[in-house]
Amino acid sequence: MMHKKLRLFLFVFLGVLWLAAGNAADWLEKKSEHFIVYFNQDEKFAQAVLDGAEKDYRQIAYDLGYARYSEFWTWDKRVKIYIYPDRSSFLKATGQPAWSEGMADYKNKQIVSYVWGKNFIESLLPHEIAHLVFRDFVGFKGEIPLWLDEGVAQWAEAAKRKEIKGLIQRYFQEDNLLLVSDVMRLNIENLKGKQGLLIRATRTKDNKGGVLFLSANNLVEIYYLQSVSLVGYLIEKFGSNAFSGFCRELRDGKSVEEALKIAYPLRINNIQEFENGWREYLKAGG
Ligand SMILES: [Zn+2]
Repeated sequence: MMHKKLRLFLFVFLGVLWLAAGNAADWLEKKSEHFIVYFNQDEKFAQAVLDGAEKDYRQIAYDLGYARYSEFWTWDKRVKIYIYPDRSSFLKATGQPAWSEGMADYKNKQIVSYVWGKNFIESLLPHEIAHLVFRDFVGFKGEIPLWLDEGVAQWAEAAKRKEIKGLIQRYFQEDNLLLVSDVMRLNIENLKGKQGLLIRATRTKDNKGGVLFLSANNLVEIYYLQSVSLVGYLIEKFGSNAFSGFCRELRDGKSVEEALKIAYPLRINNIQEFENGWREYLKAGG
């Protein structure tokens, strides 16, 4: 016969195990054509996420010229979205840094976050779905620069687009934008947290050379704004078919400059022409 104390201990121990496993084992799920949402409690929120995800997917696939390839995302290839009930359980389960609001796992086609209302559906969801669609499209072999990856993801946050365009216009009018060639070269990761002012070359709206003195934070902010503006320029000015052609060239291992040249013949032959065209677009209010 088992000792009473041992029995009690085992009982408590198993109880703790059950609690620890409970989070993962108790997932409820909702499915649609391209997504499976896993959630614990808030069914209404889960449904809103599922509906939002399908809507975003269709818009993003259309914008990036990806719509024809969408069968890759159905059935067992569906993207899984995990919604933890609160921030602390999300952080605990994923080991993400404390500032993280969510994560996208490209390889396993998963989005993981927690119940946090409007911003989840308006920002995080389209942003992360765009990362996944784009990555699916360009693959893992080619060198995909950060500005392009983040530009595509931010462009998908349609609710923020007006605000971003307003900010870009302000920076343009104040002659505070970076050179496109600089955006393509910058390693943002190395800049985070750097002290003092950084000096970068620039071009004014009247096409004169100049210099910018920026804090690291300022530089990172401009970099992200410019990234989305460059993607917006390509999509709004030349359409989604040309953009998907550009992505295909990148997937096949071409550099950004070569891919631009092939996808936008006679319009963009090199980075300088990319810069010129983008500045014309800004001048016209883009
Ligand atoms: Zn992102």
